[in-house]
Amino acid sequence: MGIIQELDIQLANKIAAGEVVERPASVVKELVENAIDAGSTQITVKVTEAGLKYIIVTDNGTGILEEDLPLALSRHATSKIKSNHDLFHIRTLGFRGEALASIAAVSKVTLKTCADGQLGHLLKVDGHTMEKSLTRAKQGTEIIVSDLFYNTPARLKYVKSLHTELGKITDIMNRFAMSHSHIRFTFYADDKVMLQTTGNGRLSEVMSSIYGMKIARDLVEISGTTGDYMVTGLVAKPEHTRANRHYISIFINGRYIRNFMLTKAIMTAYHTLLPIGRYPIGAINIVMDPALVDVNVHPTKQEVRLSKEAELMSLIEQLIKQALLGQSLIPKVEVKK
Ligand code: ADP
Ligand code: MG
Repeated sequence: MGIIQELDIQLANKIAAGEVVERPASVVKELVENAIDAGSTQITVKVTEAGLKYIIVTDNGTGILEEDLPLALSRHATSKIKSNHDLFHIRTLGFRGEALASIAAVSKVTLKTCADGQLGHLLKVDGHTMEKSLTRAKQGTEIIVSDLFYNTPARLKYVKSLHTELGKITDIMNRFAMSHSHIRFTFYADDKVMLQTTGNGRLSEVMSSIYGMKIARDLVEISGTTGDYMVTGLVAKPEHTRANRHYISIFINGRYIRNFMLTKAIMTAYHTLLPIGRYPIGAINIVMDPALVDVNVHPTKQEVRLSKEAELMSLIEQLIKQALLGQSLIPKVEVKK
């Protein structure tokens, strides 16, 4: 008799969760991505104890249909892609169909959702048990994730201090706010407001709430297109620098990405204006044909492969150079008459 067996679903999900749910911030990222994909205009995130105790994400999006509820929590189940063609034309933040299944494998999940503005459905998932009931609810979805990693002690040990974990969540929220300035975000940590945006679409206001007024006043706008790319954004004048590249945020089609070459293009544009070892501050939104970018490189979807990367690098570099040149970088001297 053979010795190979198919893994029990719960166990398979737990293994897969290792890739998607690295830390509390990964849960926040996946839940907010879902809220954005659901067309929400208001998203509230609340965490307690850096998300280890509770993560609550509430949105006013489409909600989930009753018949879709069990599938929403199954692995490889998604409403976002259907075919091979879709996989290479991703327009949503999610598409892998594994976040909710992975999160439910390593925490306790309560999902409240309403897709018709009237009747709400409540789903409680705790290990192997799933309870479903009717409830009063507003249009949209609320997901409560509690006791993260309660059943994966090794992962819990790996989680850093609450301070570090909260910092990672804050970074993620800040980046969502920068890439989606039309969404009103509210983010609380242990009942303290960490970020509040208006959703009025003004990136400069979002950056002001994140980096402060002083930097917001010294942001320079960039905007330009080539046949393949449209780039817009705000970069800080070179008198404001930071000790690492963390303050450069690059988004492709609304997704925060990390890309060495694009960061390099930004650095090249500043060139000698930056002291050695210092990095600029900025947010750059790139809109492009999804067929030119492969986001299916890593489960967290932050690494991407770009076709025509050189064209994009050169556009970004030129736009920033022009924008900085257009500014007088010599301090203005007031002449007394
Ligand atoms: P993916 O986002 O890759 O499709 P997920 O596991 O994150 O996979 O979510 C599974 C499905 O559940 C989604 O495809 C979507 O249909 C539904 N869903 C999850 N969260 C929400 C939400 N906040 N609002 C509406 N639908 C949601
Ligand atoms: Mg998702």
